[in-house]
Amino acid sequence: MIPATDPLAPPGASASSHTLTGLQCHVCHATYPATASFVCQACFGPLEPVYDYARAAQTLTREAIASRPRNLWRYRELLPITGKPRTGFTSGWTPLIRADRLAARLGVEAIYIKDDGVNHPTLSYKDRVVSVAATRAVEFGASVFACASTGNLANSVAAHAARLGLACFVFIPDNLEPGKVIGSSVYGPRVVAVNGTYDDINRLCTQIADRYGWGFANINLRAYYAEGAKTCAFEIAEQLDWTMPAHVVSPVAGGTLLPRLWRGFREFHDLGLASGPLPKMYAAQAAGCAPVVNALEAGLEHPDPVRPNTFAKSIAIGNPADGFQVLEVLKASGGWGAKVTDEEIVSAMRLLAETEGIFTEPAGGTTLAATRALIESGRIPRNEPIVVCVTGNGFKTAEALSGTLPAPLAIGRSFADFVKAYEA
Ligand SMILES: *Cc1c(COP(=O)(O)O)cnc(C)c1O
Ligand SMILES: [Zn+2]
Repeated sequence: MIPATDPLAPPGASASSHTLTGLQCHVCHATYPATASFVCQACFGPLEPVYDYARAAQTLTREAIASRPRNLWRYRELLPITGKPRTGFTSGWTPLIRADRLAARLGVEAIYIKDDGVNHPTLSYKDRVVSVAATRAVEFGASVFACASTGNLANSVAAHAARLGLACFVFIPDNLEPGKVIGSSVYGPRVVAVNGTYDDINRLCTQIADRYGWGFANINLRAYYAEGAKTCAFEIAEQLDWTMPAHVVSPVAGGTLLPRLWRGFREFHDLGLASGPLPKMYAAQAAGCAPVVNALEAGLEHPDPVRPNTFAKSIAIGNPADGFQVLEVLKASGGWGAKVTDEEIVSAMRLLAETEGIFTEPAGGTTLAATRALIESGRIPRNEPIVVCVTGNGFKTAEALSGTLPAPLAIGRSFADFVKAYEA
């Protein structure tokens, strides 16, 4: 069971070294101790960590960060743990790639790909959030580390649990791509395939967390988990030589990543670690599952749930837990959003592979296709730098492209066979 007591100073940790001071409701600002709770008892708003920023600023300088190992813990003062990091020593610090051939095809001056498809160890952005949630699960003494997932989160939770020697349960929809299922099973967790949508699974897991007290990365550990996503923003600013990007396009599923990118940019701004104005943030969704973009276009504050119908399965969440926060950030930053069809997603996956040699999964295709739509509609100007967050790896879901690519040139084994086929 996760203890209900305030664990700010667990045995063995040097209690004086952390900056986490508690949790706070995002909506009504009520404060709570830093336990495994995730909703405000007063208003049901999401809880987020609070830090002693003055204390963080004493040690978190550009020089100090630059001298630290190239993993997500280089920003440790802004991450919600109280002891030592337990996992994630090879997670984060993914490439930010200047994509000039892609820029030429899109007719823009500068575009960058933040490639979390090569994140370690499980090739998606989830290794960031899970590194933090798993460390916090250990600090809480959770007996089981678990999650409700559309695929990538299960892969990452299972891998980090294996490395930590934690018992692990992952809950996934029973219609996932084989690569995503095997990519969890191989680490030895108990994989539970649920006959239902992600949203059904999330509800089920909330009940399991209540009853058994397991540490669910994205449910009762969500306040900590979500903070890991900020490291993507920290890295982008650091990789741009401590400056802010102008425009950032992020996929939206449960709505963790996009608001935490914004929170990360704001923290770097407020601490004086990155110069320039804050970026405009843009949401990318598949047309078959676009509750947030629909709400944006309709001027609603809260998304209406939808029933997902898209091959971009890793972002097929019809009732996003943090959809409200995504809408807030799109407005506050002056950005916007776009939804794109499965055909547009496939063509963006091919475009990215053919121009830059990056094979992303449908979620990344969604983000690039939405970027393209936002450029073409004039929402993103052509003469300011754009960062596209590519969050997953295409090799995991290669069959998503089957039937859309030219077949190999099939030949016999002789030179004559090749010449005949080549010259035909
Ligand atoms: C989980 C995931 C996302 C984004 O999910 P959020 O819940 O909105 O943070 C995006 N892309 C991929 C590949 C993912 O696995
Ligand atoms: Zn509240």
